[in-house]
Amino acid sequence: MSIASPAPIPTETLGGTSTDNEPVAKKRKKDVAPTTGDRRRFANVSYWAIGWLTMAHLVAFTAPWTFTWEALAVTLVLHWMTGSLGICLGYHRLLTHTGMKTYSWVRYFFTTIGLLAGEGTPLDWVADHRKHHACSDQEGDPHTPNDGAWWSHLTWLAYHTHNGDRKAYLQRWAPDLYKEKGMRVLDILFLPAHIAVTGLLFGIGYLWQGLDLGISLVVWAMFLRLVTVLHATWLVNSMSHMWGYRNYETTDDSRNNWFVAIVAYGEGWHNNHHAYPRMAKHGHRWWEFDITWQAIRLLRAMGLVWDVVDYRNAAEKKSLDQAKASA
Ligand SMILES: [Zn+2]
Ligand SMILES: [Zn+2]
Repeated sequence: MSIASPAPIPTETLGGTSTDNEPVAKKRKKDVAPTTGDRRRFANVSYWAIGWLTMAHLVAFTAPWTFTWEALAVTLVLHWMTGSLGICLGYHRLLTHTGMKTYSWVRYFFTTIGLLAGEGTPLDWVADHRKHHACSDQEGDPHTPNDGAWWSHLTWLAYHTHNGDRKAYLQRWAPDLYKEKGMRVLDILFLPAHIAVTGLLFGIGYLWQGLDLGISLVVWAMFLRLVTVLHATWLVNSMSHMWGYRNYETTDDSRNNWFVAIVAYGEGWHNNHHAYPRMAKHGHRWWEFDITWQAIRLLRAMGLVWDVVDYRNAAEKKSLDQAKASA
């Protein structure tokens, strides 16, 4: 088994190297293009994203007429898998912030589940999110509520986040992933993978109980699940930058929001996360429950991930290591 090798990552988004998890420096680079003003142009409208998201919402609206208990059960399981394991653990804490190390196959397993959350390819997601950390609530942030609450939640997706040159944008913000052949393959598999899973769910339902369950599984476990995971993630960008409390003084408006922490599997402790981006543990106080962190702990106990960044900074890591050694 090969170990995923680390490649250079834009460090202003990460807050240090793998052993040093210091907060993001206050001084920021001026590399903010394209700004929201640049993006809000007719030429930058992403018809693809608008079509994809509109279709998902329209199909999800038929959920009341297609309900079955079987589909509800499958929906809940897939919601957790794609939302928590795929997006929070895979796309966010592993790929974007490299908060842990793992085998290549484990990394691709979680990335593929993340792909099926309908939030875009790993390359786009990681690039956008790293730029969000680098420019958070300032010029260049792809989705700050300073440009409007609805903009930060949803409408920012109606425009490309690059300025016409996607390759340059990805090479700037996700150079490590852009170099990986596997990530480039997943980049073109976004739509085929969703079509395949839709067909699979329909087939399982049809063979299990017939046409009604086939349709129910497609509407619930595919489209309603997609829409609810999407809005949970979007709440992190909107609500967690507007409402909640702060444990740390950061250069942005990030907040810890308990409601978002519940629906987005621990990602609502967003002020903690902005203060210490590489830390794989987002809940920093005892009541800040983070279910994705529990999954990471389990994976660590199983030996599937290691070198997990579960400390705030180098000094805290040192004292934790010393306490462990003397215990
Ligand atoms: Zn944020
Ligand atoms: Zn982040």
